[in-house]
Amino acid sequence: MSNYSIKHLEEYYQVYRKSIRDPENFWSEIAEEHFMWHKKWDNVLRWDFSKPEIKWFEGAKLNITENCIDRHLATKGDKTAILFEPNNPNEDAQHITYKRLHERVNQLANVLKDHGIKKGDRVCIYLPMIPELAISLLACARIGAIHSVVFAGFSSNALSTRINDSDCKMVITADGSYRGSKTIDLKGIVDVALEDCPSIKNVLVVNRINSKIEMKEGRDQWLQPLLDKASKECKAEIMDAEDPLFILYTSGSTGKPKGMVHTTAGYMVYTAYTFKNVFQYRENDVYWCTADIGWITGHSYIVYGPLANGATTVMFEGIPSYPDFGRFWEIIAKHKINQFYTAPTAIRALAKQNIDFAEKHDLSSIKVLGSVGEPINEEAWHWYNDIIGKKKSPIVDTWWQTETGGIMITPLPYVTPTKPTYATLPFPGIQPTLMDENGQEIKGNQVDGRLCIKFPWPSMARTIWGNHQRYKDTYFTAFKDKYFTGDGALRDEVGYYRITGRVDDVIIVSGHNLGTAPIEDAINEHPAVAESAIVGFPHDIKGNALYGYVILKETGESRDHNNLRNEINQNITEHVGPIAKLDKIQFTKGLPKTRSGKIMRRILRKIASREMDSLGDTSTLVNPEVVEDIKNNVI
Ligand code: ATP
Ligand code: MG
Repeated sequence: MSNYSIKHLEEYYQVYRKSIRDPENFWSEIAEEHFMWHKKWDNVLRWDFSKPEIKWFEGAKLNITENCIDRHLATKGDKTAILFEPNNPNEDAQHITYKRLHERVNQLANVLKDHGIKKGDRVCIYLPMIPELAISLLACARIGAIHSVVFAGFSSNALSTRINDSDCKMVITADGSYRGSKTIDLKGIVDVALEDCPSIKNVLVVNRINSKIEMKEGRDQWLQPLLDKASKECKAEIMDAEDPLFILYTSGSTGKPKGMVHTTAGYMVYTAYTFKNVFQYRENDVYWCTADIGWITGHSYIVYGPLANGATTVMFEGIPSYPDFGRFWEIIAKHKINQFYTAPTAIRALAKQNIDFAEKHDLSSIKVLGSVGEPINEEAWHWYNDIIGKKKSPIVDTWWQTETGGIMITPLPYVTPTKPTYATLPFPGIQPTLMDENGQEIKGNQVDGRLCIKFPWPSMARTIWGNHQRYKDTYFTAFKDKYFTGDGALRDEVGYYRITGRVDDVIIVSGHNLGTAPIEDAINEHPAVAESAIVGFPHDIKGNALYGYVILKETGESRDHNNLRNEINQNITEHVGPIAKLDKIQFTKGLPKTRSGKIMRRILRKIASREMDSLGDTSTLVNPEVVEDIKNNVI
């Protein structure tokens, strides 16, 4: 029997040891007992990190949508699969049952087939967070087409680059989208993008905002009339375990986006198994992840992981500040959410608001809180724990990447004792290790280094679309026979991991390697500070010195700035040490962020070093205007 659902710490260690001792047996038991296969595998695992080549469940035949939908129909046909909460709180929420989801996915799959889409073709999906988005992913998977979702906040330029990189044949989009009180002309953005996308033959358009749009003859069609005519039955394409399921471009915090390729069987098994354990999902729970399906978090933990477990997964179209900053908390009360999964950037933004926004809603349904995307600083962790979780709901600080497909290092709620800012322990099957600059493994505890993974796990990306060499160079070259994550981490006295930031952002001051996260954490502890980012800049004696960009809370703005600078440095001295004191502190109204809400430190680094002319690509920023402001006030 496999341990599909881990219930206490002793059991976690037992399962973990088993997963390391005999990975093949471990994963084949889980795959065998909890999924539906047309044919079982011949080999559980074949791998060679030097090529790199990774194959899980080779020889197996399956379709992921049968696992996510069909097999639940007999027992859960009338259960809500997707619970859609619209942007406008006065518009009715939609409860899409498993039965209805099955019909809608099949109808769209048939429309795709009618337009010549076949197994292996790439379909670009550029949709807001409406049910058609999840349905489009599943419809592609139903017929073996490879979906490539592009976040619908990206520009026409970012969209066309991604379409061309993978030669998509079709775009599925909407006339427009709602975002708080605004509407966005999505189809207009698509039209501009398609001016230089010769591979696109058809555009299917969802009517979401009822706007007048251009329809190009022979290329563009409204989707609904096609769906109305389509059959509600569509036989699932039988896929090989290693057939690509989707391409997803990394969020672009560090440079040119990489089209990560995820394959079918391993991805399914790993996302389902992690979902079950990391959120301790029980049969009647309502689970909500606030990410956009345009990111890996949405793929794995709004769509595939939850549906493979027959869960009810919420999709929210809007933003946390509309109609006011209580919206998330209102939705939790309205739908009695049991598991809530969001990002530190959202937590910090909401923690800045009047506490009444959170306190006036009934949050008692919450059992598990999750965080992903960036290190969560201690102050935000406590706010989340105390105000939202009422100190009774464990926080799972989940570390993982687009490349890893699923959650890698995380506490299991009610199993692993949590520790603020620590992602804690590896998930079963994951073998993390820390490496030093000379390529040696760092053994023991209370150490820090570069975070690598020593052994394959089922949901790892298999390549970068069209560029296997780049895949090898980026992840498998820095350390022999190891997957290099690009992140730094420390391991504490009990073996818990803390992610200290990206290795590229590590600053060497007087010969000491300083990660960004612990220092920013110490800065954010100051009661007047809302958020901060640190970077290095060249210094004659120390090699590098530290430059801090700090956003103050309202209460801090009226205070003497030099006193604040001293107090911030005192905090750093206490929490990290005098070596990490900041030479310069610039107070600012905003920080440049990617569309997934992450601070883009490379731009801040250039400004601090006064290389204003070489800021690089700023087109994926959500707030390019703050860059000017920061430049004008540089110290
Ligand atoms: P790009 O690779 O294009 O620069 P990105 O790394 O931001 O973009 P993602 O794959 O979405 O794209 O993010 C993964 C990264 O996010 C991790 O490598 C890590 O730096 C950070 N991260 C994610 N979760 C956590 C966490 N719980 N704690 C600390 N850092 C995290
Ligand atoms: Mg990355």
